[in-house]
Amino acid sequence: MLQFAKDLEGLLENLDHASNEYVPIEHRDPAARGFLVVINELTAGTEPTVAVARAMAAYNQVRGERKDYDRSAIAQKEQRDAEVAAEEEITRKVACPTCGAEAGLSCVGTGRSGGYRRKSHADRARLARSLNDGSAPVESEASDVG
Ligand SMILES: [Zn+2]
Repeated sequence: MLQFAKDLEGLLENLDHASNEYVPIEHRDPAARGFLVVINELTAGTEPTVAVARAMAAYNQVRGERKDYDRSAIAQKEQRDAEVAAEEEITRKVACPTCGAEAGLSCVGTGRSGGYRRKSHADRARLARSLNDGSAPVESEASDVG
């Protein structure tokens, strides 16, 4: 019985670590929350049906919060990706002064692999932005930038 009490204590600790409100929502485990609640309720002598109902409510709450978080995280990522793509489209209209990539081609040796899309060198982005801000883009100038 002593071992059981120790095991239970350890389990409750783990469940709490996996689901308490100080854990960032994206790492919070709804099932752990539900399990924790049902154990606590039953241990406290709550009627089983009520205990299960409370556990389900706790589970659903964490699950709902996580869904909301995931949805807004996805929306934010899509927004960022769109911004990067739009910026890159402008940047790649000019040749890169850093690596020599021609207009229309991506920079050589930039960025982390696995990223959404390799970003151009900063100088290229700056150059493109300054040209873009200045005047109307020159109609495809021969790229003899050497
Ligand atoms: Zn470059």
